[in-house]
Amino acid sequence: MRKFIIASNNKGKLDEFGRILDPLGIKVVTAKSEGLVLDDVEETGTTFSENAFIKASAAFKKTGLPSIADDSGLSVDALGGEPGVYSARYAGENASDEDKINKLLKNLEDVPFEKRTARFICSICCIVDEETVITAEGSCEGIISEKPCGSGGFGYDPVFLVENGRTFAQISSEEKDKLSHRGKALRELSEKLSSLK
Ligand code: IMP
Repeated sequence: MRKFIIASNNKGKLDEFGRILDPLGIKVVTAKSEGLVLDDVEETGTTFSENAFIKASAAFKKTGLPSIADDSGLSVDALGGEPGVYSARYAGENASDEDKINKLLKNLEDVPFEKRTARFICSICCIVDEETVITAEGSCEGIISEKPCGSGGFGYDPVFLVENGRTFAQISSEEKDKLSHRGKALRELSEKLSSLK
């Protein structure tokens, strides 16, 4: 089984990584669980893939161990792609998920249902060793609801409508993993890792 240090403390992401990658034979552990400390890294990239690379390479440099990072977010068409790479900080550095959702709904107040199209994007960067960097990306189309619904998931899940008018926060974890940007990116990553010698 391959083992990676994950450069994230986001509980929602960590749960999804474990759920999706464990059955594929890939173990992801936090630096903390290995007795290591990662420095805070400034996400200075302008794309999800740049930020994923910044986070994974910082973890690899610090630990010397195979490292993996996810940079992801929500791109809303009516807002010109916002919040995009700023999804985590959309309502300020320490804002709650509820604050971020409220800001998003406020900014979409006058936008009719058919124009509330959006997608989640997930970019993964995996540094296996000095010479081997693997990347994978996944996206998932949806619509931003007019009010939050459901209590599952994390982040913007309660306002992201997918199949049958239900949000990511109203469907089961298995259903989310099948449809989600992260599920798609991680399955692609697993295929690429399997084809390594
Ligand atoms: P970062 O990749 O750590 O910069 O942050 C990504 C941010 O995008 C998260 O903090 C969430 O707000 C949002 N996000 C990413 N993936 C998801 C998801 O699957 N559901 C809901 N929100 C997400």
